[in-house]
Amino acid sequence: MGKLTPQEFESYLKELRAFVEGPCEEMQADIEVTNKFPQEFYDQCNEHNIYRMSLPEEYGGWGLSELETLKCQEEFSRGPGGMRMHMHFAQDLNWRPLYDYGSEELKAELMPKFQDKSIFSAWCLTEATGGTGADLHTTAVKDENGDYVLNGEKWLISFTDMNTHSYIHAVTDPDADPDHRLSTFYVPVDTPGYEVTPMPHMMGCRGAGHTGLKFTNMKVDKKYLLGEEGQGMEIAMHSLAVSRVHIAASNLGMAQRMLEISLARAADRITFGKPILSRQAIKMKIANMQMYIHALRTMVYDFCKDYMHEPNGAYIAEKAACCKLFSIDTTRLVSDEMLEIFGGDGYFEDNPFGPVERLYRDCRAMWLEEGAPTVQRITIARDCIKHGGTMAYLD
Ligand SMILES: Cc1cc2nc3c(=O)[nH]c(=O)nc-3n(C[C@H](O)[C@H](O)[C@H](O)COP(=O)(O)OP(=O)(O)OC[C@H]3O[C@@H](n4cnc5c(N)ncnc54)[C@H](O)[C@@H]3O)c2cc1C
Repeated sequence: MGKLTPQEFESYLKELRAFVEGPCEEMQADIEVTNKFPQEFYDQCNEHNIYRMSLPEEYGGWGLSELETLKCQEEFSRGPGGMRMHMHFAQDLNWRPLYDYGSEELKAELMPKFQDKSIFSAWCLTEATGGTGADLHTTAVKDENGDYVLNGEKWLISFTDMNTHSYIHAVTDPDADPDHRLSTFYVPVDTPGYEVTPMPHMMGCRGAGHTGLKFTNMKVDKKYLLGEEGQGMEIAMHSLAVSRVHIAASNLGMAQRMLEISLARAADRITFGKPILSRQAIKMKIANMQMYIHALRTMVYDFCKDYMHEPNGAYIAEKAACCKLFSIDTTRLVSDEMLEIFGGDGYFEDNPFGPVERLYRDCRAMWLEEGAPTVQRITIARDCIKHGGTMAYLD
């Protein structure tokens, strides 16, 4: 199956909503305890074409546009946070860095395997011992055959309980300037010297399989180098820019659901003889929630127009960071208002209107994923200064 007609796409969005609010919610009750997705979740994702939807047609996917993909992300993010992360990875960091920077031989070998999750990737940038970005300590040293030997450790890495490959960012030239110190490798997890190390349980997003990683004299064939040696920083920044907008779309879907369940609860809850939804104090909260959600949706869709016009355009990183930063503010406000509207009941599990307590926990991960707010502000300010404060808008 190739591109979808507008009608087919609309019914696909409905299919996704029914999937996340039905079977996914049912599966999540156990996942909250086991912290692991059952095989059934992956099988059903496959049946619902989660691994195909945005993958380019030449590699067996549907090739949905960025706008269509983000609308799907928005729908999926109404469900459990760990599953939202899986959906995000499947459309984005899973295959895009290989597609953008892999050699034609490597792509021909591996890209078709993404369509049914025969391969799935983890993205390994963060380390416990330094700052994210150029300040990494994992090293990759070239041997006499031109292959690389990697040593080091990663931390807080998603989907390392089920991935087949890892994008590993490592220092190839410690003396180079910060933009050229790093290289990126796409490494099979059965490579000798690759080790998974345990991490404590997370606040939310249960099931998304987080661990540390350790590499000990891990020999990596040169065919797994993405792009050129020294291009790792560019690969990381370019890949994260797009991924940040998927976080923004995730916040959008989550905030939309929070608003809807808040409306339902406020209409149902009677105090002093009237539904609290009839009170002006509650209406002000609803208005604030809707204003932020509307503004966020506008920003995300505007980014899509730019990205589909020119994926490497001058304002992409700045706009992506704006989207991600604003999306956190949106979810912060909407989740706070939701909790206030639900009152004490919102602090407890098993709420009949929706998973208030879990949504509140799950959304907090998005403060950190793809960089903390400080990093977004640094990116925005850097590009804003470079462009003299202008930011192009497309018609
Ligand atoms: C649920 C979850 C999933 C994740 N998945 C992945 C993954 O799959 N792969 C991956 O590589 N990482 C992953 N991460 C890590 C995530 O990207 C980092 O947590 C995030 O980038 C922040 O880095 P840090 O935790 O090292 O914070 P730190 O670097 O310790 O920063 C702490 C605070 O200090 C600020 N700060 C740090 N340095 C500076 C500076 N120089 N100037 C000003 N302020 C500064 C930061 O902005 C932040 O507010 C994940 C994290 C979470 C929570």
